[in-house]
Amino acid sequence: MKNFSTVLVAVDFSDSSDNAFQMALSMARSFSAKLLILHVINEPVDLRGFYVPHISFEKLEEEIEDGAKKMMESFCRRNMVDYDDYDCLIVAGLPYEQIIGQAQEKSADLIVLGTHGRTGLDHVLFGSTAEKVVRKSKLPVLTVSLEDS
Ligand code: AMP
Repeated sequence: MKNFSTVLVAVDFSDSSDNAFQMALSMARSFSAKLLILHVINEPVDLRGFYVPHISFEKLEEEIEDGAKKMMESFCRRNMVDYDDYDCLIVAGLPYEQIIGQAQEKSADLIVLGTHGRTGLDHVLFGSTAEKVVRKSKLPVLTVSLEDS
């Protein structure tokens, strides 16, 4: 069986991604792999200088980034109590592009993500991020649904 050495898990802090995270952590333990925990700040539509002055958008972006960092810190404090080999990554952009791009850049050999995320469209098989990552990634992708454990 292939020995994974770096596992990237994409988290949007939804229940489904929590479940994917638990699966990724358990795989990282089994393979003694590094776990990369990635959150992507959805790039806001660029309306700078259109409706509102620059400064309010810059402030908004700063606050979104601070909020994401705090959520990630608290997520790692809660979940990474007894596993040291991990890094937390926060980047901005399109989630599916960043998940694939960061996995390649950081030489991950497996991507783990939830079948669904915060959008909650559970009547479809995959959410749009999951579907695009599965279709476009050249690396193996493991999708985890809320029912998997
Ligand atoms: P979705 O396809 O958007 O319903 O989300 C499916 C899965 O993609 C989630 O359970 C997460 O694992 C991952 N994901 C979605 N959005 C993000 C994001 N902004 N940052 C990191 N991972 C994400």
